[in-house]
Amino acid sequence: MTLFLTFNFQILKYYCTFVSLKINITTVAETRYIFVTGGVVSSLGKGIVSASLGKLLQARGYRVTIQKFDPYINIDPGTLNPYEHGECYVTIDGHEADLDLGHYERFLNIPTTKANNITTGRIYLNVINRERKGDFLGKTVQVVPHITDEIKRNIMLLGNTGEYDFVITEIGGTVGDIESLPYIESVRQLRWELGKNCLCVHLTYVPYIAAAKEVKTKPTQHSVKTLQEQGIQPQILVLRTEKQLSENICHKTALFCNVDENAVIQSYDVPSIYEVPIVLAQQKMDKIIFQKMGISGEKKLDLKQWKDFLKSMQTARKTVKIGLVGKYVELPDAYKSIIESLLQAATYHRRKLDLRLIHSEKLTEENANEYLDGMDGIVIAPGFGQRGIEGKFVALKYARKYDKPAFGICLGMQCMVIEYARNVLGLTQANSTEMDPDAGDKVIDLMEEQKNLTLMGGSMRLGAYDCRLEKDSIAYRAYQSEQIRERHRHRYEFNNEYKALLEANGMKFTGINPETGLVEVLEVPGLKWYLGVQYHPEYNSTVVKPNPLFMSFIEAATK
Ligand code: GLN
Repeated sequence: MTLFLTFNFQILKYYCTFVSLKINITTVAETRYIFVTGGVVSSLGKGIVSASLGKLLQARGYRVTIQKFDPYINIDPGTLNPYEHGECYVTIDGHEADLDLGHYERFLNIPTTKANNITTGRIYLNVINRERKGDFLGKTVQVVPHITDEIKRNIMLLGNTGEYDFVITEIGGTVGDIESLPYIESVRQLRWELGKNCLCVHLTYVPYIAAAKEVKTKPTQHSVKTLQEQGIQPQILVLRTEKQLSENICHKTALFCNVDENAVIQSYDVPSIYEVPIVLAQQKMDKIIFQKMGISGEKKLDLKQWKDFLKSMQTARKTVKIGLVGKYVELPDAYKSIIESLLQAATYHRRKLDLRLIHSEKLTEENANEYLDGMDGIVIAPGFGQRGIEGKFVALKYARKYDKPAFGICLGMQCMVIEYARNVLGLTQANSTEMDPDAGDKVIDLMEEQKNLTLMGGSMRLGAYDCRLEKDSIAYRAYQSEQIRERHRHRYEFNNEYKALLEANGMKFTGINPETGLVEVLEVPGLKWYLGVQYHPEYNSTVVKPNPLFMSFIEAATK
């Protein structure tokens, strides 16, 4: 009897495994997976190519999501210095993510989440946690299959929701790197398992050698060979190049890399990243994908809104001159989302964005006029720590004195409070406890829930929170709504003990978190456009849906 039951149970187990496998396979069959790898050098714009490809598929009516797998050991980029990795992007669900996710959102106009950005650190953490729980039942835990299985599980996570027709996965790093190997191996296995539902795009670089007046395809050939050695034959090649390549060069590349000639696509330099989808569409990249993946009866490509935006950008004659005051001016990637949000808003106002990055460490009372006089508007950048902070106060004092539109973002908003307290209220010792823990007037202070934290990673106030706007405010007029939700990344907040005093002296707090009373938006109604936000509106601005505050700021700057 016992034997019989056990036997039946085993059959049931196998049946369940079979059914679940079947279910899995059907779900997967509906979702197509496209991988984008990179070769030769980094910084070729894999993120832009992935986003542009996503845009084309979306413009054909498909549901698309894009994810990024980063081969570094950090659990997320939140602990990385901007010099290492540019801006840290934040998703609605509070994940500190790679800046490429910003491109995905700006191009596709759909939010990403934690599942859209995975690092090697997270893959290993998951596997090691399972090992400690005893999940591997005495087996030796290894890169293959345990790490590769965890990578594959994460690759398919969004696809298995059934919400997407296409999941585009960008593999960070360059083919041939030691740390990329488990990812490439996982892609190889998935190609084998998924057949036609999986496709590999490889992005490489074709340099122009000025002395020889020639472009060189050899680095591409080597890069494809490396990929082939690791078991992957790319079906599409995207060649990054400064100049347009001849048919002959494309033919040669196709021949030496085993790729169809029409599947050798060029991505030559264009004035704006938003033109890349058009460049890819002209070479029918979307159609080649449909053909290779056996998809027929696709809908018409509708890029009207996108093309209208490009047209406004290309035909704008007047400019709007914006000064962005921050400490990472040598590294514009640190302010990627702010710069793109300004550009989008300027385009919608039919202006060319003339952006000046102003080094906050160099700005003094003496030279402020030289840097700021010609600006139509000033943005005070977010940031951490003391370096360059005094220059931000200088810029704000100048903006108030000459009534220039000023927009403070996160630390920029906190600086607005400090500068106002010092120079209008005469509280000369006003500061944030981030800069001076013993400040005489702690107008910006550590949030209560932050006080006992010891871990630095992922522990800020992160992600989207509600904010209630006062009706009589610039913010309300911009958003046209009393209830908004925006994303955050901070540890400090405005100290409400100073609210009454500041309000009595002309500052108004027009946006408040309804649950905690935390100040989210401040304004000075006596000035033309002077507004600070504790949140980051720049994470929520896309080509087809620019952020209302950036729109309002640029409008004020153009008047
Ligand atoms: N350093 C400030 C804080 O932690 C501001 C952060 C930011 O600008 N993102 O509150």
